[in-house]
Amino acid sequence: MKTALTRSKNKNKISNGVVDWIITDSCNYNCSYCRNESRKPKNENKDDNLDELLIKIKKNLKGIWRFNLIGGEPFVRSDFLHVVEQLASMNHHFSIYTNFSSSWGKIKRFLEITGKNLDIFYASLHLEETNLDSFLEKAIKVKKIFPDLFIISIAGSNQKEILESAVKEFNKYKIPHIIRMQRLRNDKFLNYPKDYLDFMKKSNLKQLAFFDESKINIIDKSLYAKRHKKIFLFKGYNCWAGSRYFVLLNNGDAFKCFPAKREKKGYLGNMLNDSFLLKKNFSECEFDVCFCSDVYFNGFIEKRS
Ligand code: SF4
Ligand code: SF4
Repeated sequence: MKTALTRSKNKNKISNGVVDWIITDSCNYNCSYCRNESRKPKNENKDDNLDELLIKIKKNLKGIWRFNLIGGEPFVRSDFLHVVEQLASMNHHFSIYTNFSSSWGKIKRFLEITGKNLDIFYASLHLEETNLDSFLEKAIKVKKIFPDLFIISIAGSNQKEILESAVKEFNKYKIPHIIRMQRLRNDKFLNYPKDYLDFMKKSNLKQLAFFDESKINIIDKSLYAKRHKKIFLFKGYNCWAGSRYFVLLNNGDAFKCFPAKREKKGYLGNMLNDSFLLKKNFSECEFDVCFCSDVYFNGFIEKRS
């Protein structure tokens, strides 16, 4: 008998699976620590037409899936709300990962369209590119409409003081938040002074009440590189990626997970040319490091029998 390694206690249970849809490579920010190698400045990327892909999504994905809309920055697409409307008409669920730079009008419309089908709203605070006041203003407005807002702050060097202010404000408005260390292109973390590290750890530990037990380990341990590496090792475990989870690109290509995309393995075919095929079963993980959080948060990884 196989046992799920982690289980989500998310009240919005997904019936079929999760898609990480990289809906754009563009971003209007230019964070020095950005690890998205294919990222393009906003004005360099002409939006591709996604209508045909939406038709194929309707044909290929039966039941209810959660679409994690990620980028780049999803809101920079001129047709972003149109795409969300189309997915909503298929009754799919959503999560979004945004840098919160979009106008309040567009964010509000996104909340209206997704309604009860929005599972989680991640907003990332990049203090290199934005200021705390305007970020907080939007966070408070979103929280009033959609309580499951979650803030992820990226800890830049010399930003301890401003992050301390941010943490105070998020706590005041009861907005769950986590501070992430900057990961450099060589996969190492930025070197932080001890008092900065202590502050991050203390702040993150106070947030644990917001998470179920399976998530606590991952978030707590992700504070330190050594422990981080351990928790993301699933090589040899049975994983439902490719069956109940996959990564979708705008050109129709689909991969079983992010490490599979990076290593050009685990190709599931292309939705636009009708070669896309989900696997019927789990398969053994062959990758050294897993960074597909929705896979383990949704219990899609099983111990070997
Ligand atoms: S907001 Fe995200 S995608 Fe955009 S530049 Fe910053 S880290 Fe990269
Ligand atoms: S790396 Fe891919 S196959 Fe391995 S556990 Fe993570 S999602 Fe599954």
